[in-house]
Amino acid sequence: MTPPVLRLEGLSRSFGGVFAVRDVSLSVPSGQTRGLIGPNGAGKSTLFNLVAGLLRPDAGVVDLGGDEVTRLPAHRRAASGVAIVFQGARVFPGLTTLENVMVGAHTQVRHGFLAAAIRSRRCRREERDVRSSALAALERVGLTEWADVPATSLPLGQQRRTQLARALCARPRLLLLDEPAAGLRGAERSALAEVIEGLRGEGLTMMLVEHDVGFVSRLADRVTVLDLGAVIAEGTPAEVRRDPAVVAAYLGP
Ligand code: ADP
Ligand code: MG
Repeated sequence: MTPPVLRLEGLSRSFGGVFAVRDVSLSVPSGQTRGLIGPNGAGKSTLFNLVAGLLRPDAGVVDLGGDEVTRLPAHRRAASGVAIVFQGARVFPGLTTLENVMVGAHTQVRHGFLAAAIRSRRCRREERDVRSSALAALERVGLTEWADVPATSLPLGQQRRTQLARALCARPRLLLLDEPAAGLRGAERSALAEVIEGLRGEGLTMMLVEHDVGFVSRLADRVTVLDLGAVIAEGTPAEVRRDPAVVAAYLGP
């Protein structure tokens, strides 16, 4: 049996004596899109930071595809396939859309994007590879025609998809999306949903944090619900939506 792409066991992290993430255990099998919902302050972003290695847990285990990575730093986890689109992520100003995505490809080449700017023959070849994988990533998110415009000139929804392309460029085996649809509505929201749906169809393993339960329900195979750092429910979108503990956490007593 293949191990899950992500397995968390008893994961906890507190700040100043208050649990942000409390004894969380879950596993995400290959190809699954896992929704992660919960009220503001529930610990969703902290959980992502623990998975990506940007924070160390006080207790518990993070396992990626059968390898324990609890003590590995963030860059080693990125190299082993974890990519994250941060909550409220912005594009880098002063770069085109394509250049923004190329920055994300640096984990795939030996010398990195910045080093690739140095003009050795090998670096020039690597930069060409980075450029073509960045173009491929832009195509996956439907932004090919905007490749050469300043990224900051794009509307918010397209900036989010640029960030998504940047994460995809690293060829992740686990993609963490932290509120990618926040602040988007109408066509921009559906365009993002369609891109995520497409990735799901390709079999990419994802975790999707979203405040909007409807958005998550449409895209996730299963949903985990956090409240005050702890898992209070897990199931199909339909199951968690009718779970009394979930209703109480969202609507209050
Ligand atoms: P969510 O993403 O679900 O809204 P967070 O993971 O951002 O929740 O936050 C969970 C809790 O941890 C909150 O109470 C928040 O104030 C606290 N917290 C998160 N990061 C820090 C930090 N770096 N320092 C202190 N407290 C933090
Ligand atoms: Mg958050």
